[in-house]
Amino acid sequence: MQNNVEDFDVVVIGGGPGGSTASTLLAMQNNRVLLLEQDKFPRYQIGESLLPATIHGICKILGLSEELKKAGFVRKLGGTFRWGTNPTPWTFSFSTASTISAPKAYAYQVERAKFDTMLLRNAANKGVDVREQHSVKNLLFEDGRVAGVEFLDADGNTHSATARYVVDASGHKSHIYKNVGERIYSNFFQNLALFGYYENGGRFPAPRDGNIFCAAFDEGWFWYIPLSDTLTSVGAVVSKEHADMLKDGHEQAMNRFIASCPEISNLLANATRVTEGMYGELRVRRDWSYANERFWVPGLVLIGDAACFIDPVFSSGVHLATYSALLAARSINSILNDGMEERRCFEEFEKRYRREFRNFYEFLATFYDMHQNEDSYFWRARKVLRSDKSIQEAFVTLVSGGSSLYDEELLVNTEHVEKIKTELRELESTDDDAAPYFANEKQAFLDVLVEEATQIQTQATVGAKRGDEQPLFEGGLIPSADGFRWREVAPTLAGVL
Ligand SMILES: Cc1cc2nc3c(=O)[nH]c(=O)nc-3n(C[C@H](O)[C@H](O)[C@H](O)COP(=O)(O)OP(=O)(O)OC[C@H]3O[C@@H](n4cnc5c(N)ncnc54)[C@H](O)[C@@H]3O)c2cc1C
Repeated sequence: MQNNVEDFDVVVIGGGPGGSTASTLLAMQNNRVLLLEQDKFPRYQIGESLLPATIHGICKILGLSEELKKAGFVRKLGGTFRWGTNPTPWTFSFSTASTISAPKAYAYQVERAKFDTMLLRNAANKGVDVREQHSVKNLLFEDGRVAGVEFLDADGNTHSATARYVVDASGHKSHIYKNVGERIYSNFFQNLALFGYYENGGRFPAPRDGNIFCAAFDEGWFWYIPLSDTLTSVGAVVSKEHADMLKDGHEQAMNRFIASCPEISNLLANATRVTEGMYGELRVRRDWSYANERFWVPGLVLIGDAACFIDPVFSSGVHLATYSALLAARSINSILNDGMEERRCFEEFEKRYRREFRNFYEFLATFYDMHQNEDSYFWRARKVLRSDKSIQEAFVTLVSGGSSLYDEELLVNTEHVEKIKTELRELESTDDDAAPYFANEKQAFLDVLVEEATQIQTQATVGAKRGDEQPLFEGGLIPSADGFRWREVAPTLAGVL
């Protein structure tokens, strides 16, 4: 049954982190936004290990800092790896990056059902018309551009909504992306993941107890993500050549993978697999490494997994989803509120989004070469970022979601140098197992500290206002002072004379 047609400025498809973020940022600029989500939240989703740029950047802009603090998610200070040629695990800490002040040098490990629900409810609180159990079936077109959507409500009734823009944030299962271009699958990343949940798995000593642990084994690697004091998300990522090993059933395959990875079998020695409720299933995901050949057409823009995804190893998924949401919202706000040209805004969106995607892609391709040691990974990060920073800092900047920070200033350093020094001293003294790592890296670490101190003092003097920026690309746009829109670069006196 076809009901009446409603009209909005923007329709957003999907209520994951990408859709919730984009819709909130659009509504905060007084646009009328409809968000359609096919599931009823809270719903299960994989992707639990987050980056500082999401927590202290995007979530802060969304007004969620206090709620996040109260939610009790596990604090993640960095990552611990048994990878490459080095037989002993090594650790990186977010605090090594100069763009991240020590009090903000952490992210969270989140139960996505809770985190995504928080973001979706926040969107509704900020004025977005959120409708769960509403599924988009088709796009509407007018004069060669996308002009709205056709959707089903929870009772199966058909509705239509027209809009100046449609944002597709419907994730990897999106069927809308086909209207923009072909999804190109990576020839290099052809992995599958088998994952489940365990109670009472072991923990590293503090302060690494909240870290993501990635451990390589013959067929691939494991993630081990502490979600609470007792619950752990455990996943095996293996090349798709090993898909046959799943033929005898998921339980048997998981047990075989665990048995062939000593670090993970030790951590799970006294653990039991959760077999009931949302976490009771052993799930499989495959074919996740792709990018669409284009990210927008007139009236329609792709963000998050609808546009691209690479690989879980450095937890880039939610970062890319929320960062692309910010870029897309900035573009639509500029077109609708400031009358800026559509092509100019979306070209800026796509270039910046592809740059962030490419940074992770290039780096991860190297990281998958398990014959290297961590120094090579560090060097590679520096090359990818075209950075002249210390190698350790370039690495951490990249894996914090920090390459976007250079142009976004998402993390504002406002705390004092002494506080940072104290925190770092505490980190070193409490982390006995990691002491050799810190000893080796001490000089580089201190260099970073000095650089960070200088930045913090400058930032504290000028306040949180965005300073003058240069465009990232020749002739490109720069973010407005509040970061919600684009703006043209003011002509310089030299250019006028
Ligand atoms: C094995 C694996 C491990 C991962 N681990 C991590 C990790 O540790 N950290 C990390 O950051 N990322 C990780 N990711 C990536 C992460 O899961 C995604 O990048 C992230 O969820 C993308 O967010 P999104 O908002 O784009 O899409 P989603 O979170 O997928 O949300 C899309 C939403 O759209 C809805 N939807 C779909 N179709 C329609 C429709 N037609 N109408 C209405 N609604 C619709 C869906 O119900 C869903 O709620 C991992 C991915 C994989 C495959």
